[in-house]
Amino acid sequence: MAYDAEPGGDPRGPWCKGCKTAIAPGQASTRLHVLQDPDGKLGLTGLWHAECARPYWDTITPMLRRVGWR
Ligand SMILES: [Zn+2]
Repeated sequence: MAYDAEPGGDPRGPWCKGCKTAIAPGQASTRLHVLQDPDGKLGLTGLWHAECARPYWDTITPMLRRVGWR
């Protein structure tokens, strides 16, 4: 579980970085922190629906390694 406070977040509420829809209050969510995208400019780091993020726990890190990020 990687919950984190997001200062200055979107006043409309969190948006899933995966499916680009709102994460409803109380909906299961998780924060992915992608090393390639430390400040979220690539739209990868941030809150995801838990079910949207789950496949990426296994795939993002190997993908980034392949393109040379550590
Ligand atoms: Zn989603």
